[in-house]
This record gives sequence, structure tokens and C-alpha cells, in this order.
Amino acid sequence: MAERVRDVVVVGGGVGGLAVAIRLRARGHRVTVFERNEVPGGKLAVLERDGFTFDVGPSLVTLPRVYDELFRTVGTSLADEVDLVRLDPQFRYWWRSGRHVEVRDDGCDEPGYREFVAHGRTIWDVSERTFFAGPMSGPWSLAKRLRRMRDLTDIDPLRTLHASARDVFGDDAEMVQWAGRYATYSGSSPFRAPATLGCIAHLEHHEGCWYPMGGLGALRDAFVRVAERAGVRIVCGAEVRSITATPGVGSTRQVNGVVLADNTVIAADAVVANADATHLYRDLLPDRRALARVQRADASTSGFVVCAGVRGTTPGIAHHDIWFSDDSRHEFDQIAEGRFPDDPTIYACVSSVTDSSQAPAGHENWFLLVNVAAGAELDRAAATAQVLERLASHGVDLRDRLLFTETITPSDLEARYRSPGGAIYGTSSDGRRAAFVRPRNRGSHDGLFLVGGSSHPGGGLPLVTMSARIVDEMIEHGWR
Ligand SMILES: Cc1cc2nc3c(=O)[nH]c(=O)nc-3n(C[C@H](O)[C@H](O)[C@H](O)COP(=O)(O)OP(=O)(O)OC[C@H]3O[C@@H](n4cnc5c(N)ncnc54)[C@H](O)[C@@H]3O)c2cc1C
Repeated sequence: MAERVRDVVVVGGGVGGLAVAIRLRARGHRVTVFERNEVPGGKLAVLERDGFTFDVGPSLVTLPRVYDELFRTVGTSLADEVDLVRLDPQFRYWWRSGRHVEVRDDGCDEPGYREFVAHGRTIWDVSERTFFAGPMSGPWSLAKRLRRMRDLTDIDPLRTLHASARDVFGDDAEMVQWAGRYATYSGSSPFRAPATLGCIAHLEHHEGCWYPMGGLGALRDAFVRVAERAGVRIVCGAEVRSITATPGVGSTRQVNGVVLADNTVIAADAVVANADATHLYRDLLPDRRALARVQRADASTSGFVVCAGVRGTTPGIAHHDIWFSDDSRHEFDQIAEGRFPDDPTIYACVSSVTDSSQAPAGHENWFLLVNVAAGAELDRAAATAQVLERLASHGVDLRDRLLFTETITPSDLEARYRSPGGAIYGTSSDGRRAAFVRPRNRGSHDGLFLVGGSSHPGGGLPLVTMSARIVDEMIEHGWR
């Protein structure tokens, strides 16, 4: 336990905010989370309509041990809180060529698959004890955690993911495309993100793809329940308008509280911002230099989502399916230009395949996601029609079976979560510098910390939960 019990305010009740609140509470601090929306969870969100439930944020759970380790800090476990199912098959992948690859819980037999996954394991083993082990304030932070020179080459940071996939799969362009899709797990492009991201293939292969029965909302509810049971105060519908600090210069300035939108002043010894780093330094605690540094990091991609209540059931689909575009490079070029791809890769999660509580009997809950650039301006109706038409061109025509559709655009995501441009994962992993220019977990003032997708180590549920561990340790080992 820290020497003195402190008052900590967490700005934002996303998964990163809730996770850090749980950890700090476990150490005995008094922790209050202020969340501007009426429900906590941030991007981990649910839409219910006419007996259908859609996970409108994350739909795939990986690395459950990260949440288990978090819950254990307050005396419970993931298994005690959530009924997690290990999916098998994990995914079905489809191409217009007629090829289809099923990746089961024990993998698949495509030539090169096992080699790619084995390389991913090497990357992960080194990354876990270096990149993910603590804060990152530049290449030096990584360098000092390396045990041997080989660690650096093992994490494969210099090649792109696409290049490493081509080295393994050669002329099999479809499997190259399959491997490249792991870049999108951090909102990046396989043509720009480092080969390091290939470790996700290993994580899925060895640690599984999981689904919480009842939907991702069950995981969100578990985070909230565990936090509140431990004594965290979560206040929803409470927007933080500013973070206050003592006067001074440089890092001698110390945050001392927050002001809510209704002018309530809350004193705090430390403030952890789960809000996006741009919102933090532009609006909450304006700091031109810190903002300029934040803006060196590229935003991750955003997404266009179609939730469709569908009559009947679809033969051949799994819980997770992906229908690939014909030309991956053209697709990512169009995304980079801010355009809606004319032939998008379509990800679908139909959780009613596993969990009958998610749709009325004899129906399906289709969550369809297409990658688009952060800030892309879309015509909702045109984009919906295009997604459904492109899916039909793969032989899956939902159009005659639709009961309703609901859509989410990048501007909806921005408005809901204050994430600039509606970026799904905060910052992207595009380019060799990405890991080092991502905003730091230690803020511009004493007592200010950043947790969540826009800061180190990046977005995705397991990573934001890891960022909470890093911030907790920074706070525990020195309040600077
Ligand atoms: C469509 C979609 C699909 C995804 N798929 C997956 C997936 O399958 N697997 C996966 O692991 N991840 C996935 N992700 C990413 C994952 O959801 C995010 O990385 C993660 O949930 C982000 O958590 P966070 O802690 O960074 O905060 P966020 O979820 O961004 O939460 C930040 C919170 O801060 C609040 N806030 C902001 N400003 C203020 C303020 N001034 N005052 C008070 N509150 C404020 C916001 O309202 C928000 O609730 C997906 C995301 C989306 C949108």
C-alpha cells in the first residue's frame, strides 16, 4: 500500500479508467471516476433494439488473463464475474475467389500459418517483458528493458506487417491479406504498421478468442461491479470541464483537482485522464507544447458500423467472419485518403451464433464493421447500401431479411466518446516511430497521468487494461 491514502480523480469511465480505478482502490486510495455519459464503459458499449443486442464497440475478447489479474487485485477473478466461452472456430475468412479459411481454436492447416504464428510468439515473448512492461518515454525506455541485442530483432520493428507476411506466405496473396489484418487491431495499415503486430496471431492461436455470455455488456458490467464493490465511486452524467493545477512552470506544476460542467470543484491529489490525450491538453488542461507532442502520433482508423436485425439464420457463418476486399492495397490507400473504400473488407460479429440471448429465436444480430479513416465524412444511407451490396457480392445477401439497421459513423464515435475523428483505438501503430511518439502515461504536470487507448501502450481492451497497470505502478512508485 502507498504511504498515504490519497484522493484520486479519474476523468472518464472507459475500460482504462475503470481498470486504473480498481487498482488504485486496491492500494487503499479514495478514487472517484467521473464519466460524462449516462453509462460507464466508454467504447465498450451495447445497443438494444426489438429483442436484439449488439456489441457496438469491442466484440472480440483476447488475453483474458489481463482482466483476471486486474480483478484479483481486489479479491475476485474473471471466472467469478463473467461466463467466458472460448470460441471454436475462432473466425471464418472468405474471399471472392471462393476460398474460405476456417481458423479453429487449434489453428488451421494453411501452408505458412504455423510459421507465422511461431514468429508471433517470439515477438510477443520479448514485447511482453519490454514494451508492455512499463512506461515508454522514447527508444531508451525500450532499450533498457532489452536483455540481449537479439531482443531488438526478435520484435521485428523494421519490416512492415505486410512485408513479413509476404516473406512467410510468398505468392499466396490471400494469406498475406489474412496476416495483414492484424494491423487493423490497432487501427493501422498492414503497409505501414510494423511486423511486430504479427504477435496478435500468436495470442489468438495460443490464448484463444473469447466471448462473455450475455455479450460484451457482461464484461462491462463486471468491471463496474468489481470497481464499486471495491469502493470506487463512479459518477455518470458528470462531465469534467477542466483540470486545475497550482501555478508554476514546467513539471513543478501540480494538479489539484477538477471542475465539473456544473461548476462543482473537486479536490484531488492526483488526476488520471482516461479521456483522449488531445481532449486533455486542448480542453481540460490546455498546454500547447504537450498538445503539439500528442499530435505527433497519428490517429488510429475509425469505423463505419451497421447493426442489422436479421430474419432467419445464415448457413455457414461463424460467430466472427471476415469477407476480404479484392485488392488490399487499394483499400488501404482509399482509407488513408479519407474515402469510403469501394470494396471494403467487412468484419461481422453474429453473437447469436453462440448466445441465443442476443437475438429473438430464428433471428440473427449482425454487427458489421468496415475500416475508415478517423474524421471520414460518410453518407450513412449510401455507406449502408454499399456494405450490404458488397456483402451480397460475396454470396451473403441480407437485404431481403432485414428488420432494421442502425448505423454508427466516425462523427457519432467522436460525439459519444470525445475521441478525435472517432478514432477507435486512439493512436495508430503506423510507422516505425509510432510506439515512441504515443503520448506518455506521465502527464505534463505533477500528479497527472494518462490511461487508455490514446496513450502508451495503445488501444484495444487488453492494452488499455495494461496501461492501467503501468499508471498504477507509476503512482505507487513515486508521485512526481
Ligand atoms: C467499433 C469498435 C470496435 C472495437 N473492437 C474491439 C475489439 O473487438 N477488441 C478490443 O479489444 N477492442 C476493440 N475496440 C477498441 C476498444 O473498445 C477501445 O480500445 C477501449 O474500449 C478504449 O478504452 P479507453 O479506456 O481508452 O477509453 P474509452 O472507451 O475511449 O473511454 C473514455 C471515456 O472518457 C469519457 N470522457 C471523455 N472526456 C470526458 C470528460 N471531459 N469528462 C468525463 N468523461 C469524459 C468518455 O465519455 C468515455 O466514456 C473497438 C472499438 C470500437 C469503437
